[in-house]
Amino acid sequence: SESSNPSKTVLVTGGSGLVGKAIEHVVATGECAEDEKWVFVTSKEADLTDAAAVKKLFSKVKPTHVIHLAAMVGGLFKNMKYNLDFLRKNLAINDNVLQASFESGVVKVVSCLSTCIFPDKTTYPIDETMIHNGPPHNSNFGYSYAKRAYAEQHGCKYTAVIPTNVFGPHDNFSIEDGHVLPALMHKIYLAKNLARLFIWTLREYDEIDPIILSVGEEDEVSIKEAANMVIEGMGYTGEVSYDTTKADGQFKKTASNAKLRKYLPNFKFTPMKQAIKETCDWLNKNYDIARK
Ligand code: NDP
Repeated sequence: SESSNPSKTVLVTGGSGLVGKAIEHVVATGECAEDEKWVFVTSKEADLTDAAAVKKLFSKVKPTHVIHLAAMVGGLFKNMKYNLDFLRKNLAINDNVLQASFESGVVKVVSCLSTCIFPDKTTYPIDETMIHNGPPHNSNFGYSYAKRAYAEQHGCKYTAVIPTNVFGPHDNFSIEDGHVLPALMHKIYLAKNLARLFIWTLREYDEIDPIILSVGEEDEVSIKEAANMVIEGMGYTGEVSYDTTKADGQFKKTASNAKLRKYLPNFKFTPMKQAIKETCDWLNKNYDIARK
């Protein structure tokens, strides 16, 4: 996406993913500022675990700003199966991208933490100050430690956002590897909102301390309520049974969005039911091309 007179080049890593696609959509439909050029990259342009490839990418694109989304990502079962790979790959990707940003004089980086990386045993709601208060849930210690390590930064405007349970078009709907909602949808447009908040963070959020991008505690739903919304969204009328022999993962991740509300008191999130319905409709229409 190119404006007429760009003085800022925004490099988005993970451009083919759930969040990257949503940002691309929002930028392409009117959110691109006059002075910005947006470049979305995937693993095809550069394998970000490879330091030399990352350096090459940065000298080609010459970004002034970076939204760093690329990561080895997955739901509970994939995390349990590949804990070590999650640690090694994500440490390498994050180290390479942040180091290349630092060396090439990038003025602002927005990276991605997650509520999954917070301590397992905690008080609720969790907020931005509590990341290091105890060990993460053991189902995803690899992912968590890789992300926790770069919550700390040195002197630059390199900040991080903490999205919570994202789903939407272009998600990974794999039953084995996906997050709970898309995986459920496979069995039987909240992302757009998050994309707008990413762009807001890039342009307006001047703190280095991370910020949780989440709906409020009052909008938390149980897995059962979420499952019921998916059943309704998919128009499923058959019988439903719960297999309680499977791992649960972390019990809950109730997050405070008080900090976000301080900045954006009037921001409207898509209601959960509507977002699930839109994602179900997207999956039904795009089943052939969906990651699954
Ligand atoms: P996706 O799994 O949808 O996309 C991952 C992206 O990372 C893809 O574009 C993929 O590119 C890229 N990628 C993975 N490995 C490499 C690599 N070695 N080199 C280059 N690119 C690579 O992720 P999401 O959009 O869901 O997540 C984006 C960020 O948000 C991540 O950092 C994640 O940790 C974080 N997050 C996500 C949440 C969620 O619920 N989804 C919640 C909280 C945080 P390719 O297609 O080419 O493989």
